[in-house]
Amino acid sequence: MSSILVLVEQKDGVPKKASLEALGQAARLGKALGLAVNAAVAGPGAAAAAAAVAKRGAAKVLVMDAPALATFTPAGFGRAAAAAARKVEASLVLLGASAQGKDLAPAVAARLAAPCVADATGAAVEGGKVVWTRPVYAGKALARVAADGVVVASLRPNAFEPGPESAAGAVETFDPGVAPGDLGVVVKEVLAPAAKRVDLTEADVIVSGGRGLKGPENFPLVEGLAAALGGVVGASRAVVDAGWRPHAEQVGQTGKTVSPKLYVALGISGAIQHLAGMSSSRCIVAINKDADAPIFKVADYGIVGDVFEIVPALTKAVLAAKGG
Ligand code: FAD
Repeated sequence: MSSILVLVEQKDGVPKKASLEALGQAARLGKALGLAVNAAVAGPGAAAAAAAVAKRGAAKVLVMDAPALATFTPAGFGRAAAAAARKVEASLVLLGASAQGKDLAPAVAARLAAPCVADATGAAVEGGKVVWTRPVYAGKALARVAADGVVVASLRPNAFEPGPESAAGAVETFDPGVAPGDLGVVVKEVLAPAAKRVDLTEADVIVSGGRGLKGPENFPLVEGLAAALGGVVGASRAVVDAGWRPHAEQVGQTGKTVSPKLYVALGISGAIQHLAGMSSSRCIVAINKDADAPIFKVADYGIVGDVFEIVPALTKAVLAAKGG
């Protein structure tokens, strides 16, 4: 076993940010462990994505494009990824814990009979082994886990830094030997969301609104601050259940797990199920009129006050600071 393999997710030939972060972490671990870093990218657009990936620290990039990989299925991509891992004799397989990555990681691990470390937020090399940190019990505790043999690990988006550009590695076509009959499913249609928006799990800045906003008609306040900060809108389950916002925006245990650089919670109490989805954010700002709201326990900065007074003033101040 001699290398680290990064499974790169791409759309229309552009690698996902979470994959570039996985490549960055692979390069750091590769240096510490003395292992080569390779990558594999599958599906239509794989060749274009591979050219970008080759400049991000991968010595070799395997391009896997076949009719059975025309659309993502965990069975097809899992088989292909496992074949790639065997080809490069990978002892560590890394991928971003995006929606697709969360589906793919156990499928690859099962094919390689390897343990799967899901949604890691930290990694350290101790005694020649990688020790992973991952949140457990809905983020209430952090587990440190290590395993022997081949390991598959999915990395939480925004938890790891992407690496710098590097000299271009080699790009190779690889036939993983996956046939449409191997998949067990037929994907007939993939429905794209009506509005194209930044995926919450990849956003650097998220401004979320809760029941304290009182009604959907007040969400332009949230949208205004999000736009001023160059971020996207999130929501608590209370407002999603009330039909004020779409489920795609829900942050928490039964919504998205996010780790932005900045998370702003407006009128959100901070129930444990909400914290489960956002407490690993790098900087948390909370605005709530209740000084005892649990959100303040995880907040780096808190303002006790009325969102209807503070948010317009804050948005104005952000725009003024940006010269707008
Ligand atoms: P509330 O708890 O009602 O809080 C509203 C807050 O707004 C209060 O703290 C109040 O002080 C403040 N406020 C009111 N007016 C103002 C004002 N004018 N200015 C400033 N502040 C004001 N929740 C999630 O978010 N995500 C999940 O994924 C999720 N999954 C769940 C799964 C399960 C199995 C269960 C049981 C629950 C789950 N929940 C989840 C629900 C969770 O328990 C809470 O009910 C929910 O997070 C509350 O949303 P909220 O903070 O918007 O509302």
